Amino acid sequence: MAPFDTRTIRFPTHAKSSPVSEAPHLLGAIEAGGTKFVCAVGHGDGGIVAESRIETQSPATTLPAVVRFFAGAEARHGRVRAFGLAAFGPVDLRRDSPQYGFITSTPKPGWQNTDLLGTLQRALGRPFGFDTDVNAAALAELRRGAGRGLSSLVYITIGTGIGGGVIHHGRPVHGLMHPEIGHVRVLRHPADTAFAGVCPFHGDCLEGLANGPAILARTGHPLSEAPPQAPIWDIEADYLGQLCAQLVLMHSPERILLGGGVMQAAAPIFGRIRERMHHWLAGYVPHVGLQSPDYVTAPGLGAAAGIQGGLCLALGARFARSGGDE
Ligand code: ZN
Repeated sequence: MAPFDTRTIRFPTHAKSSPVSEAPHLLGAIEAGGTKFVCAVGHGDGGIVAESRIETQSPATTLPAVVRFFAGAEARHGRVRAFGLAAFGPVDLRRDSPQYGFITSTPKPGWQNTDLLGTLQRALGRPFGFDTDVNAAALAELRRGAGRGLSSLVYITIGTGIGGGVIHHGRPVHGLMHPEIGHVRVLRHPADTAFAGVCPFHGDCLEGLANGPAILARTGHPLSEAPPQAPIWDIEADYLGQLCAQLVLMHSPERILLGGGVMQAAAPIFGRIRERMHHWLAGYVPHVGLQSPDYVTAPGLGAAAGIQGGLCLALGARFARSGGDE
């Protein structure tokens, strides 16, 4: 498919050079999601001075609305020095790629092959840090949330989809592209052999078996509304326990954070997930850290992780010699 031609988008002309006072520590953050763009102006310490939610429509409607928000916020609070963009994906994170900063093969209509980063950077004319929404949230949790003091963690979000960000040595793992943790394969729970799964690519991968729509398809209600003895609790805990065991074996993180809509509404499941993680590890990894009830736990920043991640990316771009991530 031909790339979406973002040159056809009309932006406010004053956005690049609004005649407002310099605010040395002011940063902009954009959490670009499939249903809404959260935009904020704030400081390196995480403080927010202005915030707005913009419904995700077409790029030609949504991106000018983002730029208008920042122009208005700068008129009130001062000039933003750098921006951080945390985007839904898949996105191209390779700096040497002609499609760096593009949303690539998303099923979101109108957004395939969209130059998200380049378009915003040209309209706003400032340094930008850029990463996936889950990598940015993982970074924020490490700096300001449930991973403070650590140098590695994995952040998983379980909602409409399942996604994950991996941090090692204080930085998100990119590699070839970025990890797509939600689509690993898990062994079927003995009480869950008939369900085909809902992933359009793999059917019964982890996302296809354990995301919100998969729970709804089997039971007709969200996990939080399941009776305490319903089999879905054990099934869900087992799949997420398998994921945690695999993350321990593959990434050796110091902590695993499980967030997203399904987990926020179903906090009692954490104990069962830890139990199933230990079942699948079968004592093979002897580190005492695994025994902590905090080893697999909830994120500390909740729904604010994404926008806080955007501020972390902006801070990195502010201090990087050539912009971009840290
Ligand atoms: Zn899948």
